[in-house]
Amino acid sequence: MFELEKLVRKNILELKSYSSARDEFSGKEGIFLDANENPFGELNRYPDPYQKELKSALSKVKGVSEQNIFIGNGSDEVIDLVYRVFCNPGIDKALSFTPTYGMYEVSANINDVAYIKLPLNEYFQIDKESLTPYLKDEKLKVIFVCSPNNPTGNVLSDIEFVLENFSGIVVVDEAYADFCSLPSWSQKINQFPNLIVMQTFSKARGLAGARVGIAYASSQIISLMNKVKPPYNVSALNQQAALTALMNTAIYEQQKNEILKQRTLLETELSKLNCVKRIYASDANFILIKVSDANIIYEFLVSHKIITRNRNTVVRNCIRITVGTAEENKQLINILKEFKA
Ligand SMILES: *Cc1c(COP(=O)(O)O)cnc(C)c1O
Repeated sequence: MFELEKLVRKNILELKSYSSARDEFSGKEGIFLDANENPFGELNRYPDPYQKELKSALSKVKGVSEQNIFIGNGSDEVIDLVYRVFCNPGIDKALSFTPTYGMYEVSANINDVAYIKLPLNEYFQIDKESLTPYLKDEKLKVIFVCSPNNPTGNVLSDIEFVLENFSGIVVVDEAYADFCSLPSWSQKINQFPNLIVMQTFSKARGLAGARVGIAYASSQIISLMNKVKPPYNVSALNQQAALTALMNTAIYEQQKNEILKQRTLLETELSKLNCVKRIYASDANFILIKVSDANIIYEFLVSHKIITRNRNTVVRNCIRITVGTAEENKQLINILKEFKA
């Protein structure tokens, strides 16, 4: 049985959050003498604390009600807020799988939350048998599931099993969902009260520099995250950049299709190379490859000013390659052709 109030930290349930000047009066017209701003200039006003324009646009594009949307200073802020709302420091636990995105663990450590890492199986899928004993642990508050997963690139199949058998919070990180043809879990937040879905403007939407992350969840969970966030957590510049990127559907589609086309080309070219031992199927904008010696090949590429992500410490002899432009990918392949083991 899922009971939200039992999961939330007591101090957060009882928290009376900061009421900003823009909370108390949010109209656009008027003489604003309430927030000690400088009356002159372009960026002189505090931004909308609840990003209403951006949420309204997102709501239409994503088919999720505005009350079910939270916008953060990147997904990394969303991850931090999940810990702060649900996990008592020094007491509660979180769980994720390995290999996966490193920030779930770092953020757990920052928040003094015990972090359990369960290995994915040989197909990089959830091992339900090894997960099951943890699902009844009352101190376990949050499970992070990244799908498509970073750095492996594949979609995880047993998310529904986790949602149904765990009465804590399940965060599904969809940073790479744009590159995959499956429907988003954001369409299931009404069916699963314990589900939080994360997306970001940093990957397919091309705004890594702007720091805009999204969470979709029940309106109760969204209210708790709003209570805990800093009042003006997304700058006016970043809200505007996200809104512009969201409205630019043609550019988004064109870039996404080009990246997907380049991913296929890159897979074909990589498969012809001797030093490449295995190419893992990807539903994202990167490819994980197993090579003869990841450390040596990584350094060889760096010496030719090509920077990839050496994942040798998490998946033996594996390198994660982001799909670049046609020209960048061609240069990568040409340099790799020169590599002699
Ligand atoms: C890149 C990435 C993010 C994005 O984080 P931002 O803080 O929004 O830039 C989130 N999750 C995963 C798994 C990622 O790879």
